[in-house]
Amino acid sequence: MMIPVEEALEKVLSAITPLSHDTVPLLNSHGLITAETINSSINIPPLDNSGMDGYAVRSEDIKTSSYKKPTTLRIIEETAAGTIPKKRVLPMTATRIMTGAPIPNGADTVVRFEDTNDSERSRQNSNSNINIYVPAKTGTAIRQAGGDIKIGENAITAGTEIGPAQIGVLASLGNTKIKIFRRPKVSIISSGNELVSPGHSLPEGHIYDINTYSIASSVARLGGTPEILGIAKDTRESLIGLLEKAKDSDLIITSAGVSAGYYDLVKEVIQDYGSVDLWSVKMRPGKPVVFGELQGPKNSKWPSKVPILGLPGNPVSAMVVFHIFGRPILKKMMGHKKWDPVSIEATLLDPIDNEDGRRVYARALIDQATNGEYTAKLSGPQGSNVLTAMARANGLAICPEDINRLEPGSKVRVELL
Ligand code: AMP
Ligand code: MG
Repeated sequence: MMIPVEEALEKVLSAITPLSHDTVPLLNSHGLITAETINSSINIPPLDNSGMDGYAVRSEDIKTSSYKKPTTLRIIEETAAGTIPKKRVLPMTATRIMTGAPIPNGADTVVRFEDTNDSERSRQNSNSNINIYVPAKTGTAIRQAGGDIKIGENAITAGTEIGPAQIGVLASLGNTKIKIFRRPKVSIISSGNELVSPGHSLPEGHIYDINTYSIASSVARLGGTPEILGIAKDTRESLIGLLEKAKDSDLIITSAGVSAGYYDLVKEVIQDYGSVDLWSVKMRPGKPVVFGELQGPKNSKWPSKVPILGLPGNPVSAMVVFHIFGRPILKKMMGHKKWDPVSIEATLLDPIDNEDGRRVYARALIDQATNGEYTAKLSGPQGSNVLTAMARANGLAICPEDINRLEPGSKVRVELL
């Protein structure tokens, strides 16, 4: 009996738990999820400082300023970012100030150069006086201490995905490391007597191993660490030999050897090592999906159970099944709370046929028309072996299980790749 995609995914994810934590240098944390909440130990900015190049003044003194009747103030000091002003701004005086420099005591406003008779912002002003042309409210062009983050405030919450802005915020607090959910180590095994690794000559009747490469890079793109274990021959011994190397990993991904007859061999091997199920999932491409947990041979158990996802052999099916099941597994392991792919609605330009009540994931090229609407064009023949159509696609256009044919012009949901 075939089961719906959602049911299969729920079964898979119920066996997956987030991995342990690790502390890594900031620049290695991109794309990972924080496992700790970071409270600020300092104010950002640390001191009130100037948001403009100009003059720090007392707003009181310049209340009546205008171009016709400027207020003349005496310049007492010049200060730039990285220095602390020494003098207090007393009535009818001003400090020449650069962006980022701390506000001197006594001043409550900064008037930008453009509103004074000093246009030489780059040079020192040798005049001893400055004419102010405009009034300004208290606090103008002053960035308050703690205006971004205050001491003790929550800067980054546990569970946040780390990107350039989060890394910048952590750096602003002086941090060099962050505690994250660690990267899953994913063992990758291809199987089939016909497979040869790229870089070797290709004997007649053989093909190059694609899945090791497309799946390893899919794992790496999500932030996992792929461990390429090699190609298993279609024998018990060969498969066992490679599985043994996977005992320390967080996930094993195999490809091929799950079509009807052959599955018996895989199942036989795996039965000794743990348990697996083969599901007929209502999806095309990629109907047969294998999932289970291995714990090593009966006589010498592994340190812990390792989940195993068996992808179909056809390269497109392998990638689509990875997209539907592998991606959520890795995301959950990495501490994500959500893993639904980004999806959009598009107008379909080609028909999608659905012959047997499965959900069809059609390789499609999404474009945006001048009116802002998306269109989805099939990116090539939809056979599960045609990987070039995958390489030309940027989305999977979905024809639901209960619809026989989506006509051109109809609306279609597209999961972006
Ligand atoms: P199987 O599930 O072993 O029957 O494989 C189904 C199809 O996928 C066959 O045509 C295989 O040659 C092909 N195939 C399996 N594994 C790979 C791989 N790693 N790279 C390229 N094609 C593969
Ligand atoms: Mg095979």
